[in-house]
Amino acid sequence: MSRPVVLGAGPAGSVAALLLARGGADPILIDRDAEVGDAICGGFLSWRTAQALRALGCDPARLGAPAVCRLRLFAGESSAEAALPETAYGLSRRALDGALRQLAVESGAQLEIARVRGLEDGAVIGEDRRWESPAIFLATGKHDLRGEARPRSDGDLALGLRVRLPAGAGIGRLIGDAIELHLFPGGYAGIVLQEDGSANVCLALRKSALAEEGGKPWDLLQGVARGNPAFAQRLACGDSDLPIDTIGAVPYGWIARDTREGLYRLGDQAAVIPSLAGEGMAIALASGRAAARAFLQGEGARAYQRRFARQAVRPVKVAERLWHVAEAPLGARAMTAASRLVPGLAGLAMRLSRI
Ligand SMILES: Cc1cc2nc3c(=O)[nH]c(=O)nc-3n(C[C@H](O)[C@H](O)[C@H](O)COP(=O)(O)OP(=O)(O)OC[C@H]3O[C@@H](n4cnc5c(N)ncnc54)[C@H](O)[C@@H]3O)c2cc1C
Repeated sequence: MSRPVVLGAGPAGSVAALLLARGGADPILIDRDAEVGDAICGGFLSWRTAQALRALGCDPARLGAPAVCRLRLFAGESSAEAALPETAYGLSRRALDGALRQLAVESGAQLEIARVRGLEDGAVIGEDRRWESPAIFLATGKHDLRGEARPRSDGDLALGLRVRLPAGAGIGRLIGDAIELHLFPGGYAGIVLQEDGSANVCLALRKSALAEEGGKPWDLLQGVARGNPAFAQRLACGDSDLPIDTIGAVPYGWIARDTREGLYRLGDQAAVIPSLAGEGMAIALASGRAAARAFLQGEGARAYQRRFARQAVRPVKVAERLWHVAEAPLGARAMTAASRLVPGLAGLAMRLSRI
């Protein structure tokens, strides 16, 4: 049997590679970065993500991830709090991706560092070499390969922005064991503590919201703080010198309904759930596991892809609705008030947006 080739050693690719290796398929895992980076992400591992990780032998608590037990919602002056259905965690992507990549290699996957430029029928094209394989697992996440790009809408695109507030008693006390969502017109900011005690502040917002602040990320954060006193209090734990990372044109809501034989699409290349739900990594892990299993059982890529798309529809659609309500000024306040007044409502929304 020719060796399967996995493109991208993010959560989806590493999990597919480690399960292929454990199944005796001798995979090659390719990533462009020799050193694991700290991808722009909310750094929130849902309880479903945590369960999937433990099943693979990667316990977030052992990686030092602080437990997250409650959701705190803010919209302007109003707020609400709800218990999470089960314990979740806060963990940086450097720690998570590093642990999964290491597990894949320890399981027998052959890691190669190369930037992939594109695909041809049955072949992966790198900058200075090619890999022939009848089974290619596309897990390049946020980054599209030439010829394989996911469609972009023409509207007001979504972008991500991340800043880390350094560890300190002040921010530690404010956030505690919560995942906070601060809703504002055109987007939201999620805040959760990470394994080093820092607070990961990650925003998903419309491009127009950044444009209104002259395209300056720190001015945007200050603008959000002006209308949201709780966010202002948290932002005051950092200063304007902190590095701010951004990522553009996130195709929230996109699902790969089909593929061609020999090409398994995983993670963000299979379905992009609005990040407000904090379920992107669970989708990455679930797709990596399902695709590896399909390959090992001799099931074709198209059958896998169609099945996974059906599985992803409900969480992605529910998360899309929540994101649209949350980004509208009245919707955000109504959502916060409803979570406060109707016990169990936030828990239901959280459950429905899980894979
Ligand atoms: C703003 C924002 C906040 C988010 N917050 C959360 C959250 O809190 N919780 C959560 O569960 N999800 C969150 N998500 C979603 C989550 O980040 C993604 O769903 C997840 O990273 C998808 O994993 P992946 O393995 O598919 O891709 P990625 O994590 O993007 O990994 C792709 C890998 O492929 C490699 N690669 C890319 N192109 C090439 C190439 N040409 N050649 C070789 N290698 C390549 C990269 O180096 C990388 O290692 C968030 C997303 C956004 C945009």
